[in-house]
Amino acid sequence: MLILDNKMLEAYELFMDGTLGPKAFMVLSEPTGHFPPTRPIPNCPNLEVRAGKSHIMTKDMMCDWLKSCVFIPSVPKKLFMLIDSWPSFKDHQTIENCVPRGYDVTIRNVPPNTTGLIQPLDAHWNGPWKNFLKKFTAYALIFYPDYIIAQRNNEIWMISLVYHQFSAREFQPFLKYSWKKTGYSDFYSPFLTPSEYCFGKVDHEDCYSPNCPNLAFIKCSRCKEFICFEHFIIKDKHLCTSV
Ligand SMILES: [Zn+2]
Ligand SMILES: [Zn+2]
Repeated sequence: MLILDNKMLEAYELFMDGTLGPKAFMVLSEPTGHFPPTRPIPNCPNLEVRAGKSHIMTKDMMCDWLKSCVFIPSVPKKLFMLIDSWPSFKDHQTIENCVPRGYDVTIRNVPPNTTGLIQPLDAHWNGPWKNFLKKFTAYALIFYPDYIIAQRNNEIWMISLVYHQFSAREFQPFLKYSWKKTGYSDFYSPFLTPSEYCFGKVDHEDCYSPNCPNLAFIKCSRCKEFICFEHFIIKDKHLCTSV
């Protein structure tokens, strides 16, 4: 399952049980096609980050994504893959060539121009994801103007931490709704969106870190702690091990 951002290319896997793939894939624009060795990218455990010259998902990049994020041990061996109709994704032969032995994969493409209706990420994930990032960025701009969120590595950490929040068990009903909204499933259970859950009740709460004088910026959807911006992304990177 994929969505396309106008600044970077990102690929996400959303499963029908309301879980996300263990790793998201993102391609950042670099004129040379490489990250400068003097400025290495951070090592985020839930992201595979690549440099690309364009926003087009080339066949090589698609295979890289399949091998690094999809056909990995924690993902089931039997897969029904619903993917967009980008040129590379319509090349089923190339995809099949990337499938390691022991996998049973069925590939179907979402027809062009219907993604808003029947592509589960496009229909339900994209909006809340963008909304969350917008709130995150706005908070940084207002309260931590020295922490430049638009700087490449800070932006990568933001995506990693937000992806960690979105993959919480708390959001399984929210993620499952993507499949209901697009007509693949009848499951429905009431949910709060990640923005509502994480930013809705933080006013006047203190940061959970002992002796921290800051007010909370977020309620972690995993460990349920209230955390300030510094302890979430600046001093610490809040990738707690709670599910
Ligand atoms: Zn946490
Ligand atoms: Zn704090």
